[in-house]
Amino acid sequence: MSIADNLSTILNEIPKDVSLVAVSKTKPIEDLQAAYDAGQRIFGENKIQEMTTKWETLPKDIQWHMIGNVQSNKVKYMAPYVALIHGVDRAKLLTEINKQAIKNDRIIDCLLQVHIAQESTKFGLNETELNEIIERQLTNPFPNIRIVGLMGMATFTTDSNQIKQEFAFLKSLYNKSSAQLNSINTLSMGMSGDYGLAIEAGSNMIRVGSKIFGERNY
Ligand SMILES: *Cc1c(COP(=O)(O)O)cnc(C)c1O
Repeated sequence: MSIADNLSTILNEIPKDVSLVAVSKTKPIEDLQAAYDAGQRIFGENKIQEMTTKWETLPKDIQWHMIGNVQSNKVKYMAPYVALIHGVDRAKLLTEINKQAIKNDRIIDCLLQVHIAQESTKFGLNETELNEIIERQLTNPFPNIRIVGLMGMATFTTDSNQIKQEFAFLKSLYNKSSAQLNSINTLSMGMSGDYGLAIEAGSNMIRVGSKIFGERNY
């Protein structure tokens, strides 16, 4: 199966109002170009340096999503162009993103990453921290940040009930958050192995890598 075939298979499966982020981390430019030629315009990367190199090389109508953990000192490299930052997992990071957004005279869209998995290696806010950030954005907002939603990663397991529970929990937080903050309209959950369950649970943005580009060799 080609990259174009993989993309069309997925697009035929998912509802029209679910956005597909093609996760191209570690993959060469040619693979991204093949997806682009097939019509894909949203790409997800988890390293700022790698994303910036690809942004410099590829067509400028691509929307680049940062899906990985973000180091504060690297925000400046993506601030001129990044379309959506999925991995905001601490309040302090918003201060830096806001500062770099001001320097670039733009508003940067962000998702708040919530820790829903059992693995402690996965990043994310707990419910209290999430509420604190939302409260702050309501009372004393960062002028150059738009919080547009939540993101989460389920436990890597074959137990689909476990995954369903985690997605349902994130959806419930999303419902509460979006009732408080008008800008919230995006729920980023679901990857190659679990996007079906994620969409059933209410996801409207999935991040799919290996099912489009094949397995990654690190
Ligand atoms: C790598 C990655 C994905 C894509 O994973 P696949 O299983 O290859 O689809 C999605 N989200 C995040 C945050 C990732 O790091």
